[in-house]
Amino acid sequence: MRGSVLPIENNLEETILNFIKEAFDKKCIEAVILPKRIPSGDSFAYLLIKDKSILEGASPFPPVIPVQGAKAISSLTRQGSVKKKILAIMHPCEIRATIELFKLKQTTLNNLIFMSYDCPGVLPLSDYLENPDENDQTFLAAQQKWDSKDMRPVCKICTEFSAPASDLHIGQLGTDEGKIFLIPNSSVGKEFLNAFGLNSDVPLDEWEAEVEKLKKERENNKKDAQEKLKTKVEGPENLLETLSSCITCHNCMRVCPVCYCRQCYFDSDAFKFPPDNFISKSEKKGSIRLPSDTLIFHLGRMSHMIHSCVSCGTCEDACPMDIPIAQIFNLVADKTQQVLDYKPGRNIEEPLPTVTYQEEELQEFEKPYSETYIKVEETNV
Ligand code: SF4
Ligand code: SF4
Ligand code: SF4
Repeated sequence: MRGSVLPIENNLEETILNFIKEAFDKKCIEAVILPKRIPSGDSFAYLLIKDKSILEGASPFPPVIPVQGAKAISSLTRQGSVKKKILAIMHPCEIRATIELFKLKQTTLNNLIFMSYDCPGVLPLSDYLENPDENDQTFLAAQQKWDSKDMRPVCKICTEFSAPASDLHIGQLGTDEGKIFLIPNSSVGKEFLNAFGLNSDVPLDEWEAEVEKLKKERENNKKDAQEKLKTKVEGPENLLETLSSCITCHNCMRVCPVCYCRQCYFDSDAFKFPPDNFISKSEKKGSIRLPSDTLIFHLGRMSHMIHSCVSCGTCEDACPMDIPIAQIFNLVADKTQQVLDYKPGRNIEEPLPTVTYQEEELQEFEKPYSETYIKVEETNV
């Protein structure tokens, strides 16, 4: 692989903001989407910026993800393609989710240029909100040292921290001090760099070696974390216990970028039953929990979108009950995606498993799953 080298002026944030301003001047872009601190100072929001003076104080590398970037993009393109060239700077998991949404025909990507970066992770949203000023410093130190100790659990085990499907990637790993790599992943990315007079001819061996090293480290973290989690959540009884504090607020579903059904079954009339239905169930089991959809909600959501789950952690950040819901989804998604040989958001050309599904495949998995289903049916939730 090859890319360009860009010197860092003062700090990385300022360098990227100056690069974007120059992109406006060179007419490479007409607008940019990136996070900026909200007026109260304690969180961040995605802004669609047309006036480059508003870039002042923007945060291309925010310490938290309050709104998943794919949600920001789909809100913009819900009614059709954008006509102006827009640069979107996002975490790799946000770009991967956007690509999944595109495959699910819930967003359009025309005229959008995506810029990603080697991602050190972000802090848990609730921890951050407790003391934003102090946590800005915690994040800065962790970001500089690539120390994931304080980052969210899903970030500690994230192996997709560099997005191969973005147009332009900022490589920070394996660079000489005071420099970053700009790596074009598409013809659009190459044209972008050409407009800056930057040739993509610098070998990226050191960046690739460092990316591999960090991937291995996170892969090992993942193995350990998943083994620990399995002992807590595997099997219907354990899963039920873990989800027993769920208040069925459905926040996890509403914030998830790839929970794609336009009309959610769990919010629909099809999921509302007459009282006799509940009474007869409570007669059969002795009692039932109300509302009664907790486990079915999570398993239903899981079965719908697990192949596209990018393990972005947004659901866990939104959970008021501290349920490790993204870690549970990551555990199942990882297995499912391995079986399907599918990595969500890795390649825009790769079809969704639901599109290539054949009736006669994966039958070896049917029996164990149907046995688990019967056990779940017998439970009380
Ligand atoms: S999940 Fe991965 S890409 Fe997303 S913020 Fe965490 S480390 Fe970055
Ligand atoms: S289920 Fe959670 S971790 Fe997976 S894509 Fe949705 S919000 Fe992200
Ligand atoms: S956000 Fe948490 S409490 Fe709310 S439905 Fe999801 S898992 Fe349950």
